[in-house]
Amino acid sequence: MLTKDLAICIRATDFSETSQIVTFFTRENGKISAIAKGAKRPKSKFDGPIEVFAHGKIVFSDSNKEKLATLTEFQQQPGFANLNQNLFVLHCCLFAVELLNSMTGDCDPHPGLFDSFLQFLENLDAIRDTQYAIRDATSLLIQFQLSLLKEVGLMPVLDACVNCKTRYGSRATPALSEVEGSDKFYFSSSANGLICRDCEASFPDKIRLSKKAAGCLGNRELLADADEKTLNEIERVLIHHFTEILHHQPKMAKHVLVTGEW
Ligand SMILES: [Zn+2]
Repeated sequence: MLTKDLAICIRATDFSETSQIVTFFTRENGKISAIAKGAKRPKSKFDGPIEVFAHGKIVFSDSNKEKLATLTEFQQQPGFANLNQNLFVLHCCLFAVELLNSMTGDCDPHPGLFDSFLQFLENLDAIRDTQYAIRDATSLLIQFQLSLLKEVGLMPVLDACVNCKTRYGSRATPALSEVEGSDKFYFSSSANGLICRDCEASFPDKIRLSKKAAGCLGNRELLADADEKTLNEIERVLIHHFTEILHHQPKMAKHVLVTGEW
């Protein structure tokens, strides 16, 4: 049986002199691995060797968890030509794809996550190599990471203390950072969310957060406009969180932090 789908290549390895094994994140069928026979031949029907982030319509046969599918068609859309122009932007993409691959299972569809990931790549591709490139890329990476956590059912609680439910503000109320007397904020990976100063003693794994970072985490608009230092702090917390979830530090993690030793 042939299946049609939209797909983004998230991994490609050589299988023989002319063939590749390609892992696609597809919109309707989730993650699938397929053999692309003849992909490396000069006149390949897949428009040449398939590279990571190549995307478009695919047709494949016989996919299941035990067996490789066979790729029969791949109509590649124009690639993301700018991702290679800025090393930091490229590292953000590679980190995102590593997380996507680690956090999703085979043949487990997440159409919303597919759309978010494609949009994330398009947005990063639109970044130009200016003084704002790192800030903009980090902001987009954080938003994608939050979408990823949400899609796989692990969204942290970011607008209230996860333990005592004290709200950290919303659009209608002052942001967490504006609440008088609140100057200590924490994130706990084991609790999966923000922790207030009254509860922090019960969570030994907590990480201290600045007021600004805590405020931005609970508010997408603040997050989109946050400064580079705050975004870097949030990214550090998210890397810690993904490391706890995956029980290992993602390989690309150290390449998306701007400052400091790891
Ligand atoms: Zn609390």
